[in-house]
Amino acid sequence: MLQMIKQDAVTTETIGSPTAYKRRVIALETNLLLRNYTPKSQLIVERQFVSAPRFPVVDAHTHFGPMAFGKDYQEAYQLESAVAEFRAMGVKHVINADTIWGEPLQRLLEFLQPYPEFFTTFGSTDTSQLDHPEFERMTLRTLREGSAMGMRGLKFWKNISLGQKDLQGKFIAIDDQRLSPIWNGAAELNLPVLIHIGDPAAFFEPTDPCNERYEELQNHPDWSFAHAAFFSFSELMDQQERLIATNPQTTFIVAHMGSYGENLGRVSEWLSRYPNMYVDLAARINELGRQPYTARTFFEKHQDRILFATDAAPGHLDHLHYYEFLETWNEFIPYSSAAVPGQGRWQIYGIGLSEDILRKVYYQNAETLLANGKFS
Ligand SMILES: [Zn+2]
Repeated sequence: MLQMIKQDAVTTETIGSPTAYKRRVIALETNLLLRNYTPKSQLIVERQFVSAPRFPVVDAHTHFGPMAFGKDYQEAYQLESAVAEFRAMGVKHVINADTIWGEPLQRLLEFLQPYPEFFTTFGSTDTSQLDHPEFERMTLRTLREGSAMGMRGLKFWKNISLGQKDLQGKFIAIDDQRLSPIWNGAAELNLPVLIHIGDPAAFFEPTDPCNERYEELQNHPDWSFAHAAFFSFSELMDQQERLIATNPQTTFIVAHMGSYGENLGRVSEWLSRYPNMYVDLAARINELGRQPYTARTFFEKHQDRILFATDAAPGHLDHLHYYEFLETWNEFIPYSSAAVPGQGRWQIYGIGLSEDILRKVYYQNAETLLANGKFS
């Protein structure tokens, strides 16, 4: 198809009269597929180059284990060069999150053991036995064992809420009372909970020409939850709020801008209301950077509760885009290195944060949690 576009690309030099030229342009437009539309910006504007973060960074959301690489993760990359790759990007410490427990968690911790100053690892617990009469006892045992092994927090994602079903065949709301032993155990053992139960909002809308994440959903049809069988996005957000509200002793880091980067007003209300809530900005500079004025105000207001994060895994680092977004006033910049941006076809704008806020977001907020004994 690209070939065809090249052949069809027209200029006034290749076509004779202006009328013939216009006719060819109209014909080309009708044949152009969305995936072949890669416009080149003609904007000429100053752009500040960023090659490193202003301060050393704690990346609060990364994946070095089975979540990103499957069970053979130890063969998928070389640990020493992976750590060097992150350090070269100015990252001094990472939270490595995985939904494993027991022996697989033990193996992951041992694998990462050569770099104790670099890794904090979050694990998980088995929720598939939710209806077992001993669920509470089993959960507490798993959490205590994990904690004793060196696990410093818990990770849950949309496998609850949008994947797993209970014995009645129903999806499990994240604020379901049966999950309480997990949140109580996390509070008792000082394990913050990194959680992601479902976003972006567009994944809950039909995959049609109006969907702002159309191409992404075309490429990953299984990411669509636009079906009556699933909880709606607004139900999920209400469940998430109730979870945080009813477990004030448990610290929740709600990944990806609280799962609602499209609506920072709502996230701001949550942060104001619930002191046990933090957000990470992993994989959401696409959302933040398309609303730079709102995002900047949000960062100023909630500067103590936002954690720098990228959702990166070895071999897939995109940190410079984050630094450029947070530190500069650059305009109409890409949010990733992909030729066609993967999370919506738009560009973003930098928010020029002050040094004080950058320090907090880059490492101080994460380290405050560390100092509280909540990380490592
Ligand atoms: Zn992740």
